[in-house]
Amino acid sequence: MALVNEHYLKLSNNYLFADIAKKVKAFQVSHPRQKVVSLGVGDVTQPLCPAVVEAMHRAVDEMARKSGFHGYGPVQGYEFLREAIVKNDYLSRGIRIDISEIFISDGAKSDTGDIQELVRWDNSIGVTDPIYPAYIDSNVTIGRAGVWTGDKWSNVTYFPCTAENNFVPQIPQQRVDMIYLCYPNNPTGTVLTKDELRKWVNYALHNDTLILFDAAYEAYIQDEDIPHSIYEIKGARKCAIEFRSYSKTAGFTGIRCGYMVIPKDLSAVTLDGSKRLQLNYLWSRRQGTKYNGTSYISQRAAEATYTPEGKQQVKETIAYYMENARYMRDALTRMGFRVFGGENAPYLWVKTPENQGSWKFFEDLLYGAGVVCTPGIGFGPNGEGYVRLTAFGDRDDCHEAMRRMVIWQNSR
Ligand SMILES: *Cc1c(COP(=O)(O)O)cnc(C)c1O
Repeated sequence: MALVNEHYLKLSNNYLFADIAKKVKAFQVSHPRQKVVSLGVGDVTQPLCPAVVEAMHRAVDEMARKSGFHGYGPVQGYEFLREAIVKNDYLSRGIRIDISEIFISDGAKSDTGDIQELVRWDNSIGVTDPIYPAYIDSNVTIGRAGVWTGDKWSNVTYFPCTAENNFVPQIPQQRVDMIYLCYPNNPTGTVLTKDELRKWVNYALHNDTLILFDAAYEAYIQDEDIPHSIYEIKGARKCAIEFRSYSKTAGFTGIRCGYMVIPKDLSAVTLDGSKRLQLNYLWSRRQGTKYNGTSYISQRAAEATYTPEGKQQVKETIAYYMENARYMRDALTRMGFRVFGGENAPYLWVKTPENQGSWKFFEDLLYGAGVVCTPGIGFGPNGEGYVRLTAFGDRDDCHEAMRRMVIWQNSR
């Protein structure tokens, strides 16, 4: 008899974007003529850049010939891509990473979810709050998060990030075994300075904590002194895994390619305390068991983002989104909203007026202006009283949404 993993049942009442879609659908049934503008889901909208498209065409043509055909590739990823990563993403910032420390994947969502297989189910976890829900959910499915108590998971330590602490999470007093950090942050769009990030690295070194650092939005950083990689901090090679993705950097949400850095200096202790094991070695075993590599075509596409033309084109698309963010920030501030983020990330985190509940604000905005946002509560208890707007839309939609919001705001 196959017994199901009932931890999955704990997830069901907690699916944010399905709830939003249901409410938008209900609105459209009662308002069939109004076009809804979505500033909700965190997906890119602009096409792939020419350098990437050309590289993919070339890769397909190669595969069409016997001499250029590629079957299963190296599980860890092709060296041409890992070398380009080491050189462009790390050496250019003075960070030494060996190609054996890079694992190419189909994206950061699976990586941030799967990595928790390497550590025992009874490790404690800590997350900034609000947070990208996938980190917690993947831990829920193996029972590590404990039980849902109505607004929190019983075995998760939450580090609140709100306007009151300027979105800088406080270092915990107690020991936590694994901590997820995402900077620039989804959903708040805020960043940590080097000094703030250093405190987390020092905490981790002191407590033998594993930091899981999601840098999916590093390409959106505009300010000179904001760290792009956790390895800019001394000692991070001993305590942190870094996740990167081409999804938001180069519009690869539909192509699928990302990577993980697991330094060889990083290890974790066995239950009896007798040994430390290299996580790089364990992940390599895990991938050999469960993964057969990222497609050759996707990896050639990712490589093309590092060519001079590719770099320039990727930068232009990011500038396009960041101009949306700037426009929205200005417009919303003029409307009287308190707006956070949006300066080093494609997300704006907007305080609801008079602490209105985030689902209530969502519905008012939908019915009043036909604009979709994401209620902050969907990202954790400290997201209540905020909504997230994304800058990933088309310029015209972005302008249209702000125009409607001005009219709506003036009529309230
Ligand atoms: C979009 C996003 C990712 C990227 O996920 P992929 O699986 O690479 O598409 C990773 N982390 C966060 C926080 C994100 O918002």
